[in-house]
Amino acid sequence: MNLVLLGPPGAGKGTLAARLVEEFGFVHLSTGDILREEVKKGSELGRLAKGYMERGELVPDEVILGMVRERVDDKSDGFLFDGFPRTIAQAEGLEGILPVHLVIYLELPEEEVVRRLSARRVCKRCGANYNLITQPPKVPGICDRCGGELYQRPDDNEEVIRNRFQVYTEQSAPLVGYYERKGILRRVDASLSPDEVFRRVAEVLRG
Ligand code: AMP
Repeated sequence: MNLVLLGPPGAGKGTLAARLVEEFGFVHLSTGDILREEVKKGSELGRLAKGYMERGELVPDEVILGMVRERVDDKSDGFLFDGFPRTIAQAEGLEGILPVHLVIYLELPEEEVVRRLSARRVCKRCGANYNLITQPPKVPGICDRCGGELYQRPDDNEEVIRNRFQVYTEQSAPLVGYYERKGILRRVDASLSPDEVFRRVAEVLRG
């Protein structure tokens, strides 16, 4: 089956995705991770995306759909989409590529989004996520998993976080109704601990 993780920035999509890959063998496709990689490489795509990302705005739909088309086709199965689709146009585009069987909607209020993202740190090497308040690394600044250096994403500052939440509310939140009408949306309370969120999602997946 193909799965979509929906929810505001900071809801824990990346953390949950890592667990789902480990335990269910999904193939993880995060458009945000791909874009950050392109920015790092300084590719044409990266140069195009950088400004949007720094402002917390969305990269144009056609660019995103092109990236996804390069990586999946109508025979792709077992994909876990994280941070995609983010607009109705992207959801419609995805439907033209492959079927989506289940959408997990991670619900989290704005104040909690800001609190979490301000404290988020990410491993430069393996991409693991930490939170200085709720999930600190054992050694400050160092990844527990691979020993890599932790950094703060440039878009995880309060002004950009608020803008990302507004963009989410205006452009991505309508996807909740869109997938609800298709009867494939399941809501999960993202304010719970990562373990509890995973447990509830695993329950949904095991049906
Ligand atoms: P994320 O890591 O999912 O929070 O994405 C970081 C940034 O990359 C976003 O704030 C957007 O600027 C851009 N981005 C990632 N995924 C998408 C998408 N599906 N559509 C448009 N922009 C995206």
